[in-house]
Amino acid sequence: MTPLIITVCGVGAEVSKAQQPALPITPEELAEDAARCRQAGASIYHLHVRDDSGEPTMSVDRFRAAKAAIEDASDLIVQFTSGGAVTDTEQDRLAPLSLRPEMASLTTGTVNFGDEVFSNPRPLIERFYDRMCDLDVLPEFEIFEAGMIATAGSLYESRGSTHHQHFDLVLGVPGAMPAWDDAVGFLAAHLPQDSTWSATGIGRAHLPVTQAALRLGGHVRTGFEDVFYFEAGVPATSNAQLIERVAAMARAEGREIASPEQARELLRLPSSKR
Ligand code: ZN
Repeated sequence: MTPLIITVCGVGAEVSKAQQPALPITPEELAEDAARCRQAGASIYHLHVRDDSGEPTMSVDRFRAAKAAIEDASDLIVQFTSGGAVTDTEQDRLAPLSLRPEMASLTTGTVNFGDEVFSNPRPLIERFYDRMCDLDVLPEFEIFEAGMIATAGSLYESRGSTHHQHFDLVLGVPGAMPAWDDAVGFLAAHLPQDSTWSATGIGRAHLPVTQAALRLGGHVRTGFEDVFYFEAGVPATSNAQLIERVAAMARAEGREIASPEQARELLRLPSSKR
């Protein structure tokens, strides 16, 4: 079976350092986290950054420093968020792409996040997508609802794109698609042929979604952005701990873990980082 790409979403925009003391924020912390995650089996780092007070930011300088720290400490594929936090403006969300990470996330629709709205009208999605294509940044389509798969497909076709299509299925966000038993299989069945996909479940949805993705030949995302508790009532102690668990689950099913170079091959990225 295809080796497993593990994406670490090690920071996110929600959890605070007070809640999660191991949250990597400074370049030094990110470098150490990246090296440990690589050791544990990660091949992609899905990156958000924080300011000095620990609040989420889309500061280009912060992204530059974080990207350099991760790339100096590891050979991980760096994937920037283009979602940021729900309060960020379009210009703020677009700005870090100028640093040309190998990948960036692209949410192809609007969705409720708890009491907030993660707003992605079609014209905004088109501008984000075109900017990524112009800069040769591979999008990872973030799918929170089934309709987002159709939007990603129509975007890809409308541009006559030829890049590899990679998706991340995010289930269990309050207000969005729950992690129903058949949700991963249903979404995966509607993805384009020859595409690849990972899945993640938020909070208690995490392990069932991970198990379903492994069983169906998908890839997996894990990390502090999606998971707070390692088990009931026990907070996770590091991103690496979460990756080690996924890697162990995969090996138990006879699945090898992809190195970053293997992940680049599967995603049809150039073979070495920029
Ligand atoms: Zn994110």
